[in-house]
Amino acid sequence: MKKIEKAVQTILTGIGEDAGRQGLLRTPQRVAKMYAEVTRGYHQKVEDVINGAIFDVKYDEMVVVANIEYYSMCEHHLLPFYGIVHVGYIPKGRVVGLSKIPRLVDMFARRLQIQERMTQEIADVLNDYLDPDGVGVVVEGQHMCMMMRGVEKDQAKMITSAMIGSFKEDEKTRSEFLHLIRSERVGKV
Ligand SMILES: [Zn+2]
Repeated sequence: MKKIEKAVQTILTGIGEDAGRQGLLRTPQRVAKMYAEVTRGYHQKVEDVINGAIFDVKYDEMVVVANIEYYSMCEHHLLPFYGIVHVGYIPKGRVVGLSKIPRLVDMFARRLQIQERMTQEIADVLNDYLDPDGVGVVVEGQHMCMMMRGVEKDQAKMITSAMIGSFKEDEKTRSEFLHLIRSERVGKV
């Protein structure tokens, strides 16, 4: 924490600010606390997040959790990117507790990330822990580093996907997934 506080102080003086003025006095502490919060995923383990909530079932149809909000930080600029994640899988005897999927998304989002890697990590962790017939993950993101700097395109949205098993190999499975999440996306920003 102390290291971050010092670094923020350096940034403040570096941009020509008076780090001693009233409004900025406690900024280094606030920023240090904020960083701890938005990067807390580094201290979480998959096992703790799932916490035994894997259940044996006979259900073998597609399970979809759509519109999971996330907030992450781009590792190239330390600026936020955020949006929604859609997750689908076809169980092969095991399912994971519903609330665990958003928690896993948060665990990966609350680290320095690039959207492509985050997408793949979410798919891989479900594939590893559930050994399902297939997994699909689609992530939509708006990147502050593209909106407020650089090309300054604030409507551009990045869409990434990771498909494993039947979601990759079976055209029908993939279209069913994409159809289900598309109907969920109608009317969403
Ligand atoms: Zn960036």
